[in-house]
Amino acid sequence: MNAGKMKDYYKILGVGKNASQKEIKKSYRKLAREFHPDANPDNKKAEERFKEASEAYEVLGDPGKRTEYDRQSDLFAAGGTAGGFGDFGQGAGPGFGSIFEDLFQGGARAGPALKGDDLYYTITLGFKEALAGSTKVIKIDRRAACSTCGGTGAKPGTGSAVCGTCGGRGVVAQNQGVFSFSRTCPACAGQGRVIKEHCAQCRGAGTLPEAKELSIKIPPGIKDGGKLKYRGFGQAGPGGAPAGDLYIIVKVTDHPLFKRKGGDILMDLPLSFTEAALGSAVRVPTPNGSVSLKIPPGTQGGQVFRLKGRGAAKTRGVGGGDMLVTVKVEVPTDLTPAQRELIIRLSDQLKSNPRAKIEELAEQ
Ligand SMILES: [Zn+2]
Ligand SMILES: [Zn+2]
Repeated sequence: MNAGKMKDYYKILGVGKNASQKEIKKSYRKLAREFHPDANPDNKKAEERFKEASEAYEVLGDPGKRTEYDRQSDLFAAGGTAGGFGDFGQGAGPGFGSIFEDLFQGGARAGPALKGDDLYYTITLGFKEALAGSTKVIKIDRRAACSTCGGTGAKPGTGSAVCGTCGGRGVVAQNQGVFSFSRTCPACAGQGRVIKEHCAQCRGAGTLPEAKELSIKIPPGIKDGGKLKYRGFGQAGPGGAPAGDLYIIVKVTDHPLFKRKGGDILMDLPLSFTEAALGSAVRVPTPNGSVSLKIPPGTQGGQVFRLKGRGAAKTRGVGGGDMLVTVKVEVPTDLTPAQRELIIRLSDQLKSNPRAKIEELAEQ
């Protein structure tokens, strides 16, 4: 990245050049809350502001990076061409999610992420399967903390030492032309400390690959897009930090007859025009067996019957619903001459004008 595109991080955070670390943090928190994607769904502008503020805070929130940024800004203002700014805001600091969690949990940490990455798996269920609930076995591939060293990567009892490459600062200076800028120390990955003797089991990685089978119990009534969280089943955290979480995302396939709207199940019910006019008792299929429904005489097309408690089950005590049956009156086609004659006679008898009401309304 070229310094010609250098962003004014102070302006982005709305603070002065002499702002204290406390002021910078306070201002960032305020902006992050205001523009957080959760609070602004589908708002590209807010998302942009949020990213910008996070990027600015990642630099200004870290005294070392801030000093470096100030130095390069001064050079730039003096007509220089600073290089290497791409390093700011990417890779060096905590990831997006982690800043966030920290912020909303009210923590004061600004170092590397203290939790492993989350894992995401998708399970696809049939429409009825989702209504009934199911158990699925999935195989997850992850890196689990090494049981010998507890994830630290150090041989038990040996501990760690200050990193010789960066002297414990976590960053090293790198020269580019006449300028120097700092980047994350490659020897300690920014931790500032290195282990003295590697754990024999994981060779210092702190983690080992693990393929694990998990039996996932899906509660009845789950919706398409429903999420289940398994705490601690994600990737192992760095340096023995807690593992991330496992998220199971449930996809529910469409059904040719039934549809779902929240906890309710929707269905169209065809009736012949004689059934609708005279009334009838009909069998109505539901996802778990058919039920009898009494159709009163004079039932209209579009009329909705509610079958109480025949919708999705409650999930953890919430949701649940009914089955909503919408009448579709079917008009006979391919009439025989005799049938046609009968309908003509019926029509003469009825002499009704179904549009009388709309004609009257149109005059208003
Ligand atoms: Zn180990
Ligand atoms: Zn180092």
